[in-house]
Formats: sequence, C-alpha cells, structure tokens
Amino acid sequence: MKGFQIFNRASTAITNRATPSKLLIVLTFGAAGGAFLAISDDSPFRSLTAGESGNDGGKKKKLVVLGTGWGGTTFLKNLKTSAYDVHVVSPHNYFTFTPLLPSVTNGTVEARSIVEPIRNIVRNKPYNVEFKEAECYRIDPVNKKVYCRSIQNLGHGENEFALDYDVLVIAMGARVNTFNTPGVEEHAHFLKEVDDAQKLRRSIIDCYERASLPTISDEEKKRIMHFVVVGGGPTGVEYAAELHDFASQDLASLYPSLKDYLKITLLEAGNHILPMFHKKVTDFANEKFQKDQIDVKTGSMVVKVSDKDISTKNRATGQIEAIPYGVVLWSTGIATRPVIAEFMEKIGQAGKRVMATDEWLKVQGCDDVYALGDCASIAQRKALEDAAAIMKTVDKNNAGAVDVGDFKEFVKDIYERYPQVRKYLEKNKLKNFESLLRNAQGDSQKKIDIEALKKALSEVDSQVSFLPPTAQVASQQGKYLAACFNKAGRCEMKPEGPFRFQESGGRYPFHPFSYKHSGQFAPLGGEQAAVQFPGDWVSIGHASQGLWYTVYASKLVTWRTKVLVVSDWFRRFTFGRDSSHL
Ligand SMILES: Cc1cc2nc3c(=O)[nH]c(=O)nc-3n(C[C@H](O)[C@H](O)[C@H](O)COP(=O)(O)OP(=O)(O)OC[C@H]3O[C@@H](n4cnc5c(N)ncnc54)[C@H](O)[C@@H]3O)c2cc1C
Repeated sequence: MKGFQIFNRASTAITNRATPSKLLIVLTFGAAGGAFLAISDDSPFRSLTAGESGNDGGKKKKLVVLGTGWGGTTFLKNLKTSAYDVHVVSPHNYFTFTPLLPSVTNGTVEARSIVEPIRNIVRNKPYNVEFKEAECYRIDPVNKKVYCRSIQNLGHGENEFALDYDVLVIAMGARVNTFNTPGVEEHAHFLKEVDDAQKLRRSIIDCYERASLPTISDEEKKRIMHFVVVGGGPTGVEYAAELHDFASQDLASLYPSLKDYLKITLLEAGNHILPMFHKKVTDFANEKFQKDQIDVKTGSMVVKVSDKDISTKNRATGQIEAIPYGVVLWSTGIATRPVIAEFMEKIGQAGKRVMATDEWLKVQGCDDVYALGDCASIAQRKALEDAAAIMKTVDKNNAGAVDVGDFKEFVKDIYERYPQVRKYLEKNKLKNFESLLRNAQGDSQKKIDIEALKKALSEVDSQVSFLPPTAQVASQQGKYLAACFNKAGRCEMKPEGPFRFQESGGRYPFHPFSYKHSGQFAPLGGEQAAVQFPGDWVSIGHASQGLWYTVYASKLVTWRTKVLVVSDWFRRFTFGRDSSHL
C-alpha cells in the first residue's frame, strides 16, 4: 500500500507535521485571486497542485492521458484546470459509445453515429491539449516516460516516440479474454471496437451471400448459416438477440430460400445466461430465446476453434462435440492488456489479476500515476487491518478501553473510509455502528477494548466487493478524478476526505471514490428489454425497451451523436436495416 502511505504522508505533513525542513508551502494569490499550494517532493499531490495557475517556474506540469474510452474521455471532458499541458495518446482518435456496438453489427445504427472525434470533445477546454494517434507499448515509472508507437505505418524510426510525464492517467481499458483457447484469436470475431462491429456485420452478409451461391451443398449451407455466440453475459445475449431480429425482420424476406437453414446458438460455460441479473431476467431471457429458436447451451465450455468447427466440452459429462459454424462471436469477458501486465511487474504488482489502485484511483506502488476503468480495480482497505489504528484514535487517553459512545465522533469517517462497514450493517439489519459494537461486546455495561473491536470488525470485510467493468464505473471514475485534479489546491489546504486512522491525525484531501449504481439493461430483441434497478427492482418488456431508447439517447456524449443515433432508429423503423455487402 505504498500509494496509500504516500497519501497519508502528504496529508499528515500539511495538517500535523509542517516542519520547515520537510515541507515547503508556498501560498500565493494568483491573477484570478485563487490561492494555490506547492508542496515538497515527498507529496504525491505535488503533481496535482504545483504549477496551478501556471506558476511553477512558468512551466506547466505535463499530464499524459492514455486512452480515449469511457474513463479517459469523461476525465478529459470534466477537467477544468488550466494547470497542465495535456497530452492524449490513443490508437483511436475518437470516443466510442460501446453500449450501441451490438446495434452496429446489424445496421440498426451506423458506426459513425456512435463515435465522436476526441478533438471535438476537448475543443475549447481551458487546458492545452495535444492528441497523438498511437498506442502506448511501455510505461517506465522510474524515468516517468511512456513509449508509444504510431498506428500509421510510417518509415523506419518514425513510428515510435516517447513522452515524459509529470502525472499519468491510465485509461486503456482491457482486451478480450480468450482464456488461451486454441484458435480463438485466428477464427473468432470479437466485439470491443467499432472495427469489430463492422467486420461482424460484413461477415453475416458474407454468409448469406455465400450460402445463396448455386455451388454450395446443403450441408455446407447449414454450416455457413450457423451463427455461434460464445458467452452468455450482457454483450453475448444482446448480440444474439440483435442477430435474431436482423435475420427475422430483414434478411428472411430478402433471402427466403435460406430461412430454414438459419441457426443461432449461444454457448455459456456456466449454469445460467446473464448471471449478474435477477433470476426473473434470466428466466425471461431463456423463455424468449426458446420462442425465437435461439439454442442456449449452458454448461458448454469451448475448448478449441478451427476455421469451420467450434469444439465444446460438456461440463457435466465431459463429452466433446465439434459444431460446424459460419460465424463465431467470442464474448467471454476481459483480461489485462500486455502493456499493463508489464507495468504491473515493474511496480510490484506482478501476479495480480488486475492493476490495483487505492480508493483515490492512485496506482499502488507508483507515484503520480492514476488508473481508471476496465484496466484497474480498487483495492479496498480492510477495516480489520486498521482495528488497532482506529482504537488508538478513539482511545484518546490511552486507557486501553473506551465507551461505545466514544466512537460517535468517528463513525462518519469509518463509514467513508471502509464502505464495507455500512454494507455489513445493512445486510445484517443492524441500526448503526454502535449496534455492531454492542453485539460484539455482549455486555452493554462493558467498555470496548481492541479485542472487542476486532470481533466487531471480523466479518465486515466480507462485504468488500469489486466494481464491475462497465461504462458506468469508468465514466464515474473519470468524472471523480477530474474533480480531484480541479480542486487539488483547495483540498490540500482544506482537506475534505475522511480521517486518517493509520497515521492518526488529519484528513485525506479528497473523499475516496464512491460508485453509484443506477441500474443495468439487457436488451433481449423484439423491442423488449430487461432493466434491473438498484435494490433488485426488475422491469421486463416493451416499456423497458422504451426506457432503454430514452436512457441511451440521453447518455450519448454530444448532440451530434444524439441526433445521428435517433435518426438511425427512425430510419430503421421506416425502411428496415441495410443488408448491402459494403
Ligand atoms: C459491446 C459492448 C457493450 C457494452 N455495453 C455496456 C453497457 O450497456 N453499459 C455499461 O455500463 N458498459 C457497457 N460495456 C462496457 C464498457 O464499454 C466498458 O466497461 C468501458 O468501455 C470501460 O471504459 P475504459 O475507459 O476503461 O475502457 P475503454 O472504453 O475500452 O477505452 C480504452 C481506451 O484505451 C485505448 N487504448 C487501447 N490500447 C491502448 C494503448 N496501448 N495505448 C493507448 N491507448 C490505448 C482505446 O483505444 C480506448 O480509447 C460494453 C462493452 C462492450 C464491448
């Protein structure tokens, strides 16, 4: 928890131990009348504060942002400070509204309608910004450099360049997880990028046209017209539903002779499709797919993909079956990008499933580097590990035991620093932290000592959960991090975060990131969708699909994309989807 300790050190330095030898605080009033603070080398916040108002020896800090997806773009949109020269690196010079990618695979929505050039998005921002269409292939945290490669095929020596950074924001997302299944990279389609959706659209029409040729045998037609989706998560399910709609509503009348050859199969290794949804949603999706003749095979693990067959292993019987297919979509979750895995090794995070940040999105074991979205995960501090520190803070007189009421002053901070505590109280229907302490103590007259506190906290960490890799999480993190950058100077002087129990005294400058879930959709085709709101309130049917249209139209990042997508929907309702082989 090096990053965490550094946060502590910085805040402690400001609030408690401001000795001249260790800390240089410069309080100045800028042209706009705003105060700013520059602090010494041992603070992780120096990069967020020094240079504000352009007053760091006249040189602004260099902020490098890797990635223009949900996390990176939301961060850039919300960054309002002019304290940095911002450099953005991404192999795509646009932002993609990923929830509508499945609609691009069948032409319900056109590819250009769901993307927005990043230069449009950052135009008129208060900071200087430069964009480089390139991919980062190495991060050097020691020399504070990122190494990049242009995606254009330029001459020798012109493809690669390096950028120094003072602060780095990594928002590079993740790659598709193939689980090293042989043949997947070579033969399966993915659905992560706009290119993938366009390729998939072409491949489906390819199959229809190929199967229409007179030279194709019946058996071959059956193979070509078999579309297989691997993965019963929201993307796989939505794609299967979109494909069924395209085939039944548009292609069936254009290719009447192929109607009886069409088969859609959904393979899922687990026992259910849509496992993250309420059982009502899973049951409805199963029934709907049965009616639509989408063959859902649960307990089927794909073990190999060749150019014509996909081999599955039945998890119950161990039986291997080779299924001939025309197109296979692989949608089985995400994995860490190689550049991030290499970076993790350098910063002592080798072997971790995903790059860990602290609750403020600062990468653990590395200064001045923040990460958000699918490429990272927050490692929530365990409450039990801090029991002694909490006790020491509450027990001001060093008596060894305190009254339950003595915790009152710190309860809000405990809830904020360890959100699992509140979740545990809710789950166990306990009124408040006091009730938890009293339960652990057993005797209401007795004082609380460290053992009683440990007992009270012994179960709460079971409620620590990981945030899902979704656009909702990435965009909220982007907004949160930008807000921290914007108010860094103010929060250094007037910290707003919770109390620091580990190094008792002072507060964290910022509130930790806190995710607010606003529900999730599962479009199921035929103008029906399921929506699950927080508290497991579920709604399924045509009204939910109406809500899906409204929410997604409103979430599109610019007015241009909103207008394009809504007009695509009208075009589709009026003229159907386009089956041209472009
Ligand atoms: C088909 C589909 C449908 C989805 N639907 C939903 C939904 O309905 N709701 C929801 O909440 N979530 C949805 N998601 C998940 C959501 O898209 C992701 O969780 C979200 O995109 C994560 O944001 P991110 O910024 O971490 O990564 P991304 O949005 O993936 O962005 C990563 C960025 O990094 C760039 N990049 C990649 N490699 C490099 C490199 N080497 N150097 C520099 N830059 C690089 C990429 O070009 C991209 O700009 C969906 C995902 C998919 C694929």
